[in-house]
Amino acid sequence: MSSQNPTPAGGPLVEGPHDPEHDPRASYGLEPEYVASLTDRLVATTGRTVQVQTPLNGGPLANIPQSSEDDVKEAFARARRAQAAWARTSIDERARILMRLHDLVLERQDEIIDLICWESGKARKHAFDEPLHIALTARYYARTAHRHLDTQRRIGVVPGLTRVEVNRVPKGVVGIISPWNYPFTMALCDGLPALLAGNAVVAKPDAQTMLSALLGARLLDEAGFPRDLWQVVAGPGRELGTPIIQRADYICFTGSTATGRIIAKQCAERLIGCSLELGGKNPILVLRDADIEKAAEGAVRASFSNAGQLCVSMERMFVADQVYDRFVERFVARTQAMTLGATLDWGNDMGSLISQDQLDTVVAHVEDAVAKGARVLAGGRARPDLGPYFYEPTILEGVTPDMTCFGNETFGPVVSLYRFHDEADAIARANDGEYGLNASIYSQDGARARAIARLIKCGTVNINEAFGATFASIDSPMGGMRESGMGRRQGSEGIHRYTEPQAVATQRLIRFGPMLGMSDETYAKVMNANVRLMKRLGRA
Ligand code: NAD
Repeated sequence: MSSQNPTPAGGPLVEGPHDPEHDPRASYGLEPEYVASLTDRLVATTGRTVQVQTPLNGGPLANIPQSSEDDVKEAFARARRAQAAWARTSIDERARILMRLHDLVLERQDEIIDLICWESGKARKHAFDEPLHIALTARYYARTAHRHLDTQRRIGVVPGLTRVEVNRVPKGVVGIISPWNYPFTMALCDGLPALLAGNAVVAKPDAQTMLSALLGARLLDEAGFPRDLWQVVAGPGRELGTPIIQRADYICFTGSTATGRIIAKQCAERLIGCSLELGGKNPILVLRDADIEKAAEGAVRASFSNAGQLCVSMERMFVADQVYDRFVERFVARTQAMTLGATLDWGNDMGSLISQDQLDTVVAHVEDAVAKGARVLAGGRARPDLGPYFYEPTILEGVTPDMTCFGNETFGPVVSLYRFHDEADAIARANDGEYGLNASIYSQDGARARAIARLIKCGTVNINEAFGATFASIDSPMGGMRESGMGRRQGSEGIHRYTEPQAVATQRLIRFGPMLGMSDETYAKVMNANVRLMKRLGRA
């Protein structure tokens, strides 16, 4: 394992204490004026602030003003007023602004990525995925807006005489509660289809990564969305979550399964809808006919992207007996060749975990596994020499059901290898447990892999790729089965969740009751004859 020293070419970083003279971003790591221009976007009047630190060196990054329940109330009041006007704008106008956002995030990519790295400690190449995902999402929804939102004709009961249309009515104000792991895109991506469908948003991003989320809000303003349409509040989820749910018309939540359950109950109480994008313990299957080099390369991305703090990353790897030894040799070699570093530069393969809590979980999972007999094939150590929360990409073998990391999500750079003899067994083991988010299959026989995919109980399955093929194909729905979630982001599912389908039927000439002096009995006979005729004519 080699580590890249923090000697950035184009920016400050993170060795030793901050020295304002040598750090152009001043003592907070970011210029105070820049931080203020972002926090200005908050509804937060308590006068309290919470300091956030950068995981790159544990130093202070910014002081974030905190919101109260009254601030949540005010945010909803502003959002409601803005939504009433926004719902009257044309779909074309909304799509035009969304396309401007697409251009803006590409133009301002460096600024966005720097901020994400500062806040989350991730490697630059993993931060790059975030503005990219927003650009893809903005373009997709802008280009397909009419397909999803135009009023559509449906089949009427009486051909030619019952005209049925379905309108897509915005829900109103959507509450979005998002996590820290992809702080820019997770705060923003679910809101774009909500806005396009005519809604307003009140967002509560995770407390650890408010700045990236606030930069997203500012870019929405700059793209041309009315400012009040997107409100941001800051504070602990357990305090602000309930006031948000009490006022929202729909909740979009991304985070842990435990919190998802709490949110689902509160939404049920109010009879409002919610989508829940939750945790996973995702399996990757390497079949006997897999291209081993490709699978080993994909396995590194699958398990160690964003230091494994990725809902769709792989923590369980099932490898066919016939290729196990060859695959493991290549996977371990590739993992040991990774570079880790606490810099904002390109070139690091993995960055830091976000916090002491995350590091504690990873350490606990690996120590528990090793104590119970698991073998460490690569990694297995914290790296305080690189930064306070660094942990090496780690491959375990011999993990058994009594070990914590067997079925519990680690949400870190730790993957367990299992050998399988027949595919039915591999499929059964992949389906083990209560999660069902993402799976990956490596095989050179696409048709066979697709047939296996149908047997896997996961919301997305990527063949010869880790997670990017489904995640970046915005037309495909993304989300979890079983305890990994409810509802889907992306695709038509990802925008229709923010609308109420309203059916409007216009009836002509005949009515649904006896006509022309007909008795009820005659009417029933005429209707029966009609129903039979419709079947003979092949009508739906
Ligand atoms: P978390 O559930 O603790 O926090 C997520 C968000 O919920 C934060 O904004 C937090 O403030 C808020 N929150 C916490 N308690 C709340 C409450 N009682 N009411 C309302 N809001 C509350 O999740 P985490 O541990 O920070 O994030 C990691 C988890 O998120 C992992 O399990 C990961 O798999 C999952 N995740 C899933 C997806 C997906 O798309 N399926 C994406 C990213 C992360």
